[in-house]
Amino acid sequence: MDRDNVLLTPGPLTTTLQTKLAMLRDWGSWDADFNAITARVRSRLLEIVGATHSHVVVPLQGSGTFAVEAAITTVVPRDGHLLVLDNGAYCKRMAKLATMMGRQTTLKTFTDATAISAGDVEALLVADPSVTHVGLVHCETGTGVVNQLEAIAEVCRRRGAELIVDAMSSFGALPINAAELGLAALVAASGKCLEGVPGMGFVFLRRDLLEGMEGRSHSLSLDLYDQYTYMERTGQWRFTPPTHVVAALDCAIGQYLEEGQASRLRRYTQNFDTLITGAARLGLKPYLAREDMSPIIVTLLAPDSPAYSFDVLYQTVKKRGYLLYPGKLTDVETFRVGCIGAIDDTAMEQALEAIGAALKEMGIAD
Ligand SMILES: *Cc1c(COP(=O)(O)O)cnc(C)c1O
Repeated sequence: MDRDNVLLTPGPLTTTLQTKLAMLRDWGSWDADFNAITARVRSRLLEIVGATHSHVVVPLQGSGTFAVEAAITTVVPRDGHLLVLDNGAYCKRMAKLATMMGRQTTLKTFTDATAISAGDVEALLVADPSVTHVGLVHCETGTGVVNQLEAIAEVCRRRGAELIVDAMSSFGALPINAAELGLAALVAASGKCLEGVPGMGFVFLRRDLLEGMEGRSHSLSLDLYDQYTYMERTGQWRFTPPTHVVAALDCAIGQYLEEGQASRLRRYTQNFDTLITGAARLGLKPYLAREDMSPIIVTLLAPDSPAYSFDVLYQTVKKRGYLLYPGKLTDVETFRVGCIGAIDDTAMEQALEAIGAALKEMGIAD
């Protein structure tokens, strides 16, 4: 293999050479040099969401789901009631893990084909005043639909419900101001739009809620309060840190700050526009309406032909160096193409050519 495959997926993502090179050293978890990296990552993460004064950030070993689970178990009291707004697979996962941790959980399922309306959320909160917390996925990566974070946060503030946001696939790409939105918790991870490598999540916790979090978690390794107080006291991670992942994230954040959120979003939007235009040329239609889509990931309807096979599409496109992602919907045949990662619209053009060639091979394209 003379070059890496380009990952058109929701994570792990294609990373820059500079980020990969940042992993070519071994770090002592106790050492001051590594602790300085952790401290820098934490302070820059807080700056990215304008939360230096309002929130703390707690890094956690593991994939993004570990961090979502940690946020729920640390933030929702044992006698709390979590309302999970559901328009896709990651929402359902949040409700499942909350239920497994014994939190009273209500899963409210909406169609996965549109964004959840703030008006609907308000009606739910009015109808059930026992709800203490709301769980929202910002960009539901299962389809790519982006939910209206600002409007839903406003409703939650007004109705006195605390909001926990899974912003895994939007963090770094879409602007989020955790302080202004008054979020109880905001969850993201290293291997998505910050373009680091996977292996750690991080959770922003509102400062005024910290006190009540002590001893709340059912899990030792997922106890963000414990992780936080230990880190504050020692500068170190509680258990073995993913040292190379942290070093790569530090390097990736440096590049992120150089590029800037607006420019990164512009680059992803160019990838998205190129994808949408090119897909239309190939006769492929997106699953969502334009206004519900995000420049994060696009769900395309599979061609309506008996000759279509995702496996053939995948393998043919892979031979040309691009990795697609399967669909996550149960009732419609789809596949997904990510717009995020260290790629530009030239890569997207080439991926589209590869998709076109695959369709031709299946005898679908003209
Ligand atoms: C990627 C992602 C996660 C975390 O998934 P992991 O496989 O555990 O990293 C959670 N929520 C959303 C919306 C995601 O895109």
